[in-house]
Amino acid sequence: MSISFSTEENDEIITTTASIPEDSNEGSLRPKTLREYIGQRKAKDNLEVFINAAKMRREPLDHVLLHGPPGLGKTTLAAVIANEMGVNMRITSGPAIEKPGDLVAMLTNLNEGDILFVDEIHRLNRAYEEILYPAMEDFAIDIIIGKGPSANSIHLDLPHFTLIGATTRSGQLTAPLRDRFGVALRLELYSPKELQQIIERSAGILGVDIEADGAFEIASRSRGTPRIANRLLRRVRDFAMVRANGVITREVANQALLNLEVDELGLDALDRRMLRSIIEFYNGGPVGLDTLAATINEEAVTLEDMYEPYLLQQGFLTRTPRGRCVTRKAYEHLGIEYMGQQQMEI
Ligand code: ADP
Repeated sequence: MSISFSTEENDEIITTTASIPEDSNEGSLRPKTLREYIGQRKAKDNLEVFINAAKMRREPLDHVLLHGPPGLGKTTLAAVIANEMGVNMRITSGPAIEKPGDLVAMLTNLNEGDILFVDEIHRLNRAYEEILYPAMEDFAIDIIIGKGPSANSIHLDLPHFTLIGATTRSGQLTAPLRDRFGVALRLELYSPKELQQIIERSAGILGVDIEADGAFEIASRSRGTPRIANRLLRRVRDFAMVRANGVITREVANQALLNLEVDELGLDALDRRMLRSIIEFYNGGPVGLDTLAATINEEAVTLEDMYEPYLLQQGFLTRTPRGRCVTRKAYEHLGIEYMGQQQMEI
């Protein structure tokens, strides 16, 4: 039997921020309380006040909009809020709501105080959004039954509920919907120290033997994203079991991640291809996102949602009104000679 830690097919997806089948047991690793939820200090501090105030008034929490790149813990935080408020949470997503009836059914099945979590809320059909406006504001909906002159409008009162919307692109939300959220919180990429804590916590739950600098090594290469940190932890655990004595040390983590083609700053093959293409084909930029996406045969949204946030945060890429440019740091990281900015017509 041969065990491969680096196959053609998983090279590209191992560091994707999107949820993939191997993350299916994420559930067991999700923190349940605000105390267990690591990092995101600002969002947590705000939420703590809102939750306590709502509990003191014995009222449901105001509607909350969570935004930030995939894998940063939006779904997890929504479940934490439900747990802290002591209420149930129903989960759906923008694209799963295929007809107005789906949304009406979700709303009318809620109990007093429940949370309705709508993931990817920016993908909710604009026409159905209008059902949400009175539902969020007045806890009521008007539905039209029948057609033409015999049509009847029925007014339905809803229980007082809290809508938690999650989105990777708050800019795509319509203003009327955005304005109906009383609380809007932005989740930020995590620092390596915070990711180290998340990895150590997950290792404890999974029963994995890990040293502090082994955890830090994985953390520094996880693109600021807990979902990737947990995924890399599982991959490195397999490597440690088969190739080492089961303990994740810094060296074991380093070897395993090199095999997975995740470099020392967490960049994967697609990141490098993206940066290299801007340098080789567009003299370092500026280049428009769509042109770049076509050049490397990827979807523009994938690049924008999943790749750019980390490259921008690490200072490999800048966004200008005329397109994306790579920085000197990117040249240095890729080992390409930097000729200065003179070719860049900014
Ligand atoms: P999103 O909804 O933003 O795509 P998720 O909430 O699904 O992200 O988070 C992905 C995984 O990362 C979860 O399974 C959870 O285990 C982990 N995670 C996210 N945020 C945290 C956190 N603050 N502390 C610990 N683990 C976290």
